[in-house]
Amino acid sequence: TRVLGIEGTAWAASAAVFDTESDDVFIETDAYEPDSGGIHPREAAEHMHDAIPRVVETALAHARETFDGPDTEPPVDAVAFSRGPGLGPCLRTVGTAARALAQSLDVPLIGVNHMVAHLEIGRHTADFDSPVCLNASGANAHLLAYRNGRYRVLGETMDTGVGNAIDKFTRHVGWSHPGGPKVEAAAKDGELIDLPYVVKGMDFSFSGIMSAAKQRYDNGIPVEDICYSLQETIFAMLTEVAERALSLTGSDELVLGGGVGQNARLREMLADMCDQRGADFHAPEPRFLRDNAGMIAVLGAKMYEAGETLAIEDSRVDPNFRPDQVPVTWRTDEPE
Ligand code: ATP
Repeated sequence: TRVLGIEGTAWAASAAVFDTESDDVFIETDAYEPDSGGIHPREAAEHMHDAIPRVVETALAHARETFDGPDTEPPVDAVAFSRGPGLGPCLRTVGTAARALAQSLDVPLIGVNHMVAHLEIGRHTADFDSPVCLNASGANAHLLAYRNGRYRVLGETMDTGVGNAIDKFTRHVGWSHPGGPKVEAAAKDGELIDLPYVVKGMDFSFSGIMSAAKQRYDNGIPVEDICYSLQETIFAMLTEVAERALSLTGSDELVLGGGVGQNARLREMLADMCDQRGADFHAPEPRFLRDNAGMIAVLGAKMYEAGETLAIEDSRVDPNFRPDQVPVTWRTDEPE
């Protein structure tokens, strides 16, 4: 099976081709970089409008080059796209492109949940059976585990996503978007200061810590110390809930997903925790952690093989598409 994936929920205009036989994933991404501030939904959608045709053309050229079937056949079996969650104007632009492409290639359309894709790419690259997944992305933060045919949300942020929380602080300091990598670099020279730590059961909150971080900065605390402490505190919160999720589900596998997963300190804390419990930890390579169409193509292929195609008239995008809305029909293992 060969699937063309298209991603465009926020900043990454991305297209990919996944071939199940070779397990090869080709990804072409064009990132939107705001001149100032964070992501502006309208500008991001304009970026999608400009960049999606280009990245799709590159991915299709790759598909054609590596296709050994007859010229009269399309070089892919299906077109998969991110239906949500994400920014409405971006999703609509990408949805339109995906529908047009599926129709012009005369192949089925597959609607992928972006959050489930962040999870499935970890399961796919780790070859794990039934992991708990920590999604640490820009607009989201949650723990997911499979039960009775769905990925259940075991815990999640009560306010902003983890990356967005970090980016809000860096915007306050005047650093350009995205802030995560800059916080990671600055944290190397920092010392620990006290910041609010908010975990309630399996849920957590970042709003208090973000206001406190901004306040400490305005009061003249060195920015390196704040960056170091932000990482230590936020990642300790995520590690605590991930551990609780492992213990609750009895799973001994943890996968990490999402752009914040590129942070070495977060990976280190999760790996240490898993080590101490005798659990296996896997973080996919960075190109699969940040938003990318590779994960859309990989999950798209699993859904295609399970017969999960989408009629054009049912293919509306959904900015609030939750992972537990998706019937997981592509897993062959039976629920407990
Ligand atoms: P979602 O997948 O929820 O729609 P998103 O579209 O914003 O989120 P991702 O690509 O998953 O995108 O994540 C982007 C976020 O990752 C940004 O907030 C960015 O600051 C953060 N990030 C990137 N690199 C690092 C890093 N090294 N440390 C911490 N955060 C990082």
